[in-house]
Amino acid sequence: RKFVYDFTEGNKDLRDLLGGKGANLAEMTNLGLPVPPGFTITTEACKVYLDSGSEPAELRDEVSAHLADLEQRMGKRLGQSDNPLLVSVRSGAKFSMPGMMDTVLNIGLSDASVAGLAAQAGDERFAWDSYRRLVQMFGKTVLGVDGDLFEEALDEAKQAKGASSDLGLDAADLRQLVEDFKQIVLKEAGREFPQDPREQMDLAIRAVFDSWNGERAKLYRRQERIPHDLGTAVNVCSMVFGNLGPDSGTGVAFTRDPASGQQGVYGDYLQNAQGEDVVAGIRNTVPLADLERIDKPSYDELMQIMETLETHYKDLCDIEFTIERGRLWMLQTRVGKRTAAAAFRIATQLVDQGLIDEAEALQRVNGAQLAQLMFPRFDEGATAELLGRGIAASPGAAVGKAVFDSYTAVKWSRSGEKVILIRRETNPDDLNGMIAAEGILTSRGGKTSHAAVVARGMGKTCVCGAEELEVDTKRRRLTAPGGVVVEEGDLVSIDGSTGKVYLGEVPVVPSPVVEYFEGRMHAGADDADELVQAVHRVMAYADRVRRLRVRANADNAEDAARARRFGAQGIGLCRTEHMFLGDRRELVERLILADHDDERASALDALLPLQRQDFIDLFEAMDGLPVTVRLLDPPLHEFLPDITDLSVRVALAESRKEPHENDLRLLQAVHRLHEQNPMLGLRGVRLGLVIPGLFTMQVRAIAEAAAERRESGGDPRAEIMIPLVGTVQELELVREEAEKVIAEIEARSGVDLGLKLGTMIELPRAALTAGQIAEAAEFFSFGTNDLTQTVWGFSRDDVEASFFTAYLEKGIFGVSPFETIDRDGVGSLVRHAVEAGRATRPDLKLGVCGEHGGDPESVHFFHEVGLDYVSCSPFRIPVARLEAGRAAS
Ligand code: ADP
Ligand code: MG
Ligand code: MG
Repeated sequence: RKFVYDFTEGNKDLRDLLGGKGANLAEMTNLGLPVPPGFTITTEACKVYLDSGSEPAELRDEVSAHLADLEQRMGKRLGQSDNPLLVSVRSGAKFSMPGMMDTVLNIGLSDASVAGLAAQAGDERFAWDSYRRLVQMFGKTVLGVDGDLFEEALDEAKQAKGASSDLGLDAADLRQLVEDFKQIVLKEAGREFPQDPREQMDLAIRAVFDSWNGERAKLYRRQERIPHDLGTAVNVCSMVFGNLGPDSGTGVAFTRDPASGQQGVYGDYLQNAQGEDVVAGIRNTVPLADLERIDKPSYDELMQIMETLETHYKDLCDIEFTIERGRLWMLQTRVGKRTAAAAFRIATQLVDQGLIDEAEALQRVNGAQLAQLMFPRFDEGATAELLGRGIAASPGAAVGKAVFDSYTAVKWSRSGEKVILIRRETNPDDLNGMIAAEGILTSRGGKTSHAAVVARGMGKTCVCGAEELEVDTKRRRLTAPGGVVVEEGDLVSIDGSTGKVYLGEVPVVPSPVVEYFEGRMHAGADDADELVQAVHRVMAYADRVRRLRVRANADNAEDAARARRFGAQGIGLCRTEHMFLGDRRELVERLILADHDDERASALDALLPLQRQDFIDLFEAMDGLPVTVRLLDPPLHEFLPDITDLSVRVALAESRKEPHENDLRLLQAVHRLHEQNPMLGLRGVRLGLVIPGLFTMQVRAIAEAAAERRESGGDPRAEIMIPLVGTVQELELVREEAEKVIAEIEARSGVDLGLKLGTMIELPRAALTAGQIAEAAEFFSFGTNDLTQTVWGFSRDDVEASFFTAYLEKGIFGVSPFETIDRDGVGSLVRHAVEAGRATRPDLKLGVCGEHGGDPESVHFFHEVGLDYVSCSPFRIPVARLEAGRAAS
């Protein structure tokens, strides 16, 4: 086994072995681009080190051989005192990871070689600048010294000199700084800064290996589900110097605009600087376009190289480069991050340029990006005062009056005010306020903080961790960095897609992408923007290749119509509970209170025509497409008045000696129906079995509605779905009753209604006995919300607000299992039920109607296990269509 690869030996497909950075350095080298020579130590070597606690025996010799080769090519030896070769030691895992060791530049410099470097470059200041950077970076990243100590010493030196930037320090100042830095190292790390260049290199390599198991890196991997055993590669790269004077410099660039996708010159450049100076903001950079004026030949060459890279990688690339005395060097490239809008535009642009095909274009975008483009946004033309910036935790644009506690949020929103709840951080006590608010803003906490997790679960706009904003909940005010103060009641606007916080009301405009899906904007129209056209084209690719059909969860004709505009191919879940609310509540109360069959039957008779009309409207809106109607699911007490309100009413009436017989009976019913754990109580098919006539009434309403639609020339395709089945016997009983009713109506109307009967699979027992259940079901629809609750033993309403934050922070899961399907647990039950169900009934229709149906990653899973369709809320339909296409291509 070989542990070290020269840059000339690797290529971009070896990311597993060489890490992302190493693989791309090799690729650029082999493309003939100017990359400073170097070599990569493989992830395999790292793995051996991590497993055994020491480097593989062969590693030292292999590194020596590659180093000797490098020295020969460069004509100097590492740290040689009169003419030193210097190198950088750079970490580079397969995925770039926060918490991994930073790069150490200028390795090989020492008290002995610093003068040699000065002589060789003819620049003494440069040599001391490089040395102080080495001691600083090495001290911080390899020896673990607090980096602030170096920064403070540097600031002191600048102050003493009255210098505004590091350029104001001369050779002597820097030489003194090196002394100070070495003292800091000695004091803090308890050892001298190593003078032996090879020891510097070996220690840096080992520090990179060790950083793989740093706490931050481990946490990141748990959250992102990156395996812990990949290991990191280490790149050793000969130094080129951007800090050799004004004809030198360092920069970053993109081959096209990562914000819009537009082709052009994008990047920043900083003269006389090294490494991360350009992004660290220590001095003002200039736009990359200015390089043309500063150094035309280098600029031209860079443009040429960027074109080569784009055509080669067939994608937007980002680049790090350095110019050493007029000579351009490439230090890094990778396929670059981009905004959602740019992703769509770039994908179609590349198709037009003939660089990629449609299948590849689908892989260049994703559903999360599409979802982002569908949120309403703040009007870009509007002028607004930016107060500050936090983490974009849950997308959307929200405007409201600032409130600083949950109580006020609830109170104000009850009186019709829109509010933004502002807290330092939120906790479960803030839940009501979060529900009442338009959006949530916190000054602490990251993407997995309570505010972020709960807001995402509720689909509510949230900006968290806006640390520059000082939140004072006692005095009910927020202070922005400029000193602007927001008091309770002042209007603020927050953008959960960018993390920006504005003073006042910023106008909100609908997303053009939604306008397009709604049919209010046509992709072909002259004024349709490029983004809409790109989305239109990508959606067409996806629809062409996807195997999964996409249906909507919709309970009424209006939602159904919108779902159809968004591309729904039917309704996968129509909940019937809303048909029992509003002014029908009284009928439901009668049903529940009924003492005799007669009373019950008369209540049901009154409900029947109302239900029937609901279904007629729905079948009409979805004419020709399947509509799955779920029979009543929730526990009955949800339809009765609140126990406290009712008790008060009864007590009052009693004391006033007013008649209250009905309320008293209701109260008794409420007590009778009270359940400790309603989620696991009398609901779903259990209701149907213990309340005579309830399900039959619903089936009758569906069948009569279908018959009526037929008579008016429609094409209704109803499917009747029984919820919360745990065993086939339950289903058989309901089925028997239902078939009688259907037969009766078919006989009366003289048409075959083609009704299908099926069940939800949402209890572990149902999934485990799916083979039996399929004998009585023509279709299964996986109710993955309840299935997740019952498989994990979580009550969703309780856990998201209580301990999910802790679980996410500890990395027990990277994303809530209610957001993305838990493949290993819930998913394996789904997989089993699919196989067992199809074994019993090969033409069994399979779908999913939990919220996972609109979640990108989950859609891929449902494609893999072979479902026929996913069903999701109307708004998520485009996302599901896109992901179904991506899964199939
Ligand atoms: P990161 O992964 O944080 O980007 P890099 O390894 O790319 O870390 O290095 C950090 C900075 O140091 C970058 O700006 C890079 O261009 C610069 N750098 C790394 N190696 C060299 C080198 N051999 N010569 C000059 N600059 C270098
Ligand atoms: Mg870095
Ligand atoms: Mg870099």
